[in-house]
Amino acid sequence: MVGAARVGAVVLAMVMGGCAARTAPPAPGPATPAAAAATAATARTYENLDATLWMQTAIEYHASASQAYRLATAQLDRALADPTVTAAIEQQGQNVSGLPPAIILDADETVLDNTPYQARLLTAGGTYDDATWKVWVNERKAGAVPGAVAFTQYARAKGVTVFFITNRNADLEPATRDDMTRLGFPLDATRDTLLMRRERPEWESSEKAARRSVVARDFRILMLLGDDLGDFLPNARGTIEERQARVAAYDAWWGSRWIMIPNPTYGSWEAATRTGAASPAAADQLKQKLSRLRP
Ligand SMILES: [Mg+2]
Repeated sequence: MVGAARVGAVVLAMVMGGCAARTAPPAPGPATPAAAAATAATARTYENLDATLWMQTAIEYHASASQAYRLATAQLDRALADPTVTAAIEQQGQNVSGLPPAIILDADETVLDNTPYQARLLTAGGTYDDATWKVWVNERKAGAVPGAVAFTQYARAKGVTVFFITNRNADLEPATRDDMTRLGFPLDATRDTLLMRRERPEWESSEKAARRSVVARDFRILMLLGDDLGDFLPNARGTIEERQARVAAYDAWWGSRWIMIPNPTYGSWEAATRTGAASPAAADQLKQKLSRLRP
């Protein structure tokens, strides 16, 4: 608790520092590239610094992901042994015992490590946008989340079809396949097991239920693994309270049918902290987030 409180204080100090920089009187425009870079630096808030550092440097992150996948491995054996188990809301109430087994994993920050992209945003300044994301993905430099490769290979060796449902856009499928193959993730040679957003007209939405339903037609879905509530059930976006209410009935599924991988750098949890922000300005979002703290 002491450590968490200290980290929280550091984050708060940085956030407050960011607010302070924004309230300073406007300076004349920078005269040189160096001055422009300095101006950009003072406008940054470094909100994601500790989160990104934790994922890139902390044994605590490595342990969190590794233990999640080790737990997943044990739960996979249990789910295989009980032909009535399904982890998909889309299959509740159905007789799934005659279907072959599958699991569904998210890609980014569940099996693929994109923290270098977050690190670039921190060091160069800026926030997420589709153009810089596309550049990063096409470099084909993603890493593997600890434990993910061994778990998916174990599942495949047990005769389980391994599906990946990702909100990466369909045009990023070649780069995604290259990374996953290089890292050792089992992609099926005979059927499409990497389901991208917008790969089909009916997959326009970031909601994954439509793609889960395609898997659910032919397979018993033993487990879901993700880093975002939206990887597990529909309508995961909303206020903090709405999200808590949405998932309350499934609390016993965490650690059994559903495995959550930690990702403190982004996700629908973060959007929920600034729901209702008056404007998209970063200072307003920071105020929204500060208001969510419980001192
Ligand atoms: Mg993800």
